[in-house]
Amino acid sequence: MSFSPLLQQLIDSLRCLPGVGQKTAQRMAFQLLERNREAGLKLSDKLKDALTHIQHCQVCRNFSELPVCELCQNTKRDDTQLCIVETPIEVLTIEQTHTFNGRYFVLMGRISPLDGIGPKELKLDELEQRLEKGNVKELILAINPTIEGQATCYYLSELAKKYQMNVSQIAYGVPFGGELEWVDLPTIAHAFKTRQLL
Ligand SMILES: [Zn+2]
Repeated sequence: MSFSPLLQQLIDSLRCLPGVGQKTAQRMAFQLLERNREAGLKLSDKLKDALTHIQHCQVCRNFSELPVCELCQNTKRDDTQLCIVETPIEVLTIEQTHTFNGRYFVLMGRISPLDGIGPKELKLDELEQRLEKGNVKELILAINPTIEGQATCYYLSELAKKYQMNVSQIAYGVPFGGELEWVDLPTIAHAFKTRQLL
């Protein structure tokens, strides 16, 4: 049995969501059509709004509806500490621990020579421009401990040396190969407090 064209397109589109395969997408589509049309329309509106208006902060590259995000605009944050993370979700995770009051820079990926991703692809010149301003005294690497993460940490620690600043890495309790996003908050808070100078 084949679905009508519109239904098939809806099912195919839902499959772009993480963890959603054919069966789940079918169930979602039928559920929305049978019982929840209003919520489905709201979802499509909000999706469009968010995807149209949420961009990257010009300073930290986190998601933001403003050219410069609220966190970067906050004058109470400590300019001398810059925490480097791979993805926007990790800014949120670290913020939820309430252990860090510095600034962030989101890499939007990690250095992976095998995939052809280097400093240029990650536009790390934007990070260098920030370091050149001279306010940062410590670079805190909150990078996932994967092979690519280690390559990324190495590059960033060399960068820190170039600009004569301290560089530390959160390590304790973050499992090797683990993803920061999925580690519980007390563990991340502890990893922050016990970060080690490289
Ligand atoms: Zn920002």
